[in-house]
Formats: sequence, structure tokens, C-alpha cells
Amino acid sequence: SPMLQIRDLHVSYGKTQALHGVDLLVQQGEVIALIGANGAGKSTTLRAISGLLKPTQGQIIYQGNNIAGVSADRIVAQGIAQSPEERHIWPTMTVYENLALGAYLCKKDTEVERRVALVYDRFPRLKERHRQLAGTLSGGEQQMLAIGRALMSEPSLLLLDEPSLGLSPRMAEEVFEFVREINTHGVTVILVEQNVYNALSVSTRAYVYETGKVVAEREAAGLLDDP
Ligand code: ADP
Ligand code: ADP
Repeated sequence: SPMLQIRDLHVSYGKTQALHGVDLLVQQGEVIALIGANGAGKSTTLRAISGLLKPTQGQIIYQGNNIAGVSADRIVAQGIAQSPEERHIWPTMTVYENLALGAYLCKKDTEVERRVALVYDRFPRLKERHRQLAGTLSGGEQQMLAIGRALMSEPSLLLLDEPSLGLSPRMAEEVFEFVREINTHGVTVILVEQNVYNALSVSTRAYVYETGKVVAEREAAGLLDDP
């Protein structure tokens, strides 16, 4: 059975209906890209999965349980983590302190040293900078630290909202390489990406959004031939 199945998802912000009937399916081990125009509902989908928004209708079945409307804390406990939006880190704290505080905030404050060591294994550059203030890192490194913070809960499913936003092509490629590395170690990933070519470079499949709905589902290779 799929790791995640979303059925008929509706989400509103007050009177604005952002999602009207989204269906999607994610198998364990995949890297799924959500693509489509700005405002189409991609970020809203991630927020609903991670418990930041309550759907008005529909189901989010994760490993057999409907988690639609479950609180964000409990969703983290079930193995889903979202990298903080807008690359949110604490600039006046060190890399290490950002990771440790990240663990504390998601109530995974046991074995912090072991969890930090895991993140450092996946990303040696963070280890080299562990005493450096986060605000002095490059944009790409700050993005990796934000993702590292999400990894502190040792999620099975990682949600990333535009991990390449504002990065140079070279830095974006490094972040995507990092995403592939995380996926190789067994983490399933759903990412929102504006740039179709970036999305194709990292994902196995893509869902295409248009005004609050999924209008197509494609193998990443197929999208290149038929954009
Ligand atoms: P995308 O991620 O595809 O750019 P979003 O999920 O951010 O799209 O937005 C979907 C729709 O919901 C848009 O119409 C957007 O303006 C609206 N929206 C997003 N966030 C909010 C919010 N915090 N308050 C009100 N409306 C929002
Ligand atoms: P995203 O697509 O990642 O949500 P945006 O640039 O569309 O990024 O939105 C930036 C911020 O503004 C987000 O926190 C989003 O929730 C909020 N936002 C987006 N659209 C609206 C809206 N129509 N009304 C209020 N807040 C919004």
C-alpha cells in the first residue's frame, strides 16, 4: 500500500478556497515534485500534510491512518517533517545550536548528540561549520541547515517548500544533491519547485497543479518530452 494517499483534499484560508479536490499518491522511497504556477496550491498541500492547516474536506492517509486535521506535533511524532518555510534558521546561534534547538522544538530532544551526528554524516559541510553562526553561512548552507533541522526528528517523509529558492544554479544543484543523498538513506521526499527543470533533475514523479487542483501526474522523464 502507498505511504501517503491524499483523497479529495479541500483547504481554505477564510473565504479563499486554495485546494478544491486534490488527489495524490506517494510510494515509499519516491521523490515527488509538486509543480505549477504560483498560487496553484502546492505549499498549501504541504501545510495540510504537516498539520499546519486543517482541511475542510478530504483524507490524508499516511501509513494507513487518516491524519487530516491531526496537530502538527503529533504528525512530527508519526514521522513527517517539513523544512521550515522561508529557510527559517536562528542567525545568531551556531549551526550546532540550530540543530539542537530544532530537536527540542519538535519534542525529539532525546539523543540529540546522535541525531546531530546523523545530520553531520549526511552533510559534512555543516559539521565543518558547527561552531559558526548560522547567519554567516551562505544561502545554500542556510538551506541545508534548515533541512538538517527537519531531519532532527528522523522523519520517514520529508516535505520541502522550494528548497532552491533564491539560490544560484550551482548552490541549487548542491541542495538537490543533498536531497538525493537523504533519499538514498531511505527518506521519502515531497518537494515544491517552481522551476520544472530543477524538479525533473531530482524527482521520480511530478504532480502538476493548476488553480487548486492536480491536473496531471507524470514520470519525471515523460515531462521532459511533453512539457
Ligand atoms: P503555491 O504554493 O502553488 O504557490 P499556495 O498554496 O501558496 O500556492 O497558495 C494557494 C492559494 O492560497 C493562493 O490563492 C494563495 O493566494 C492563497 N494563500 C496562500 N497562503 C495564504 C494565506 N496565508 N492566507 C490567505 N490565502 C493564502
Ligand atoms: P508560497 O507559495 O510558498 O505560499 P507566497 O510567496 O505565495 O509563497 O506567499 C508568501 C507568504 O504569504 C506565505 O506565508 C503565504 O501563506 C502568504 N500568502 C500567500 N497568499 C496570501 C494571501 N492571498 N493572503 C494572505 N497571505 C498570503
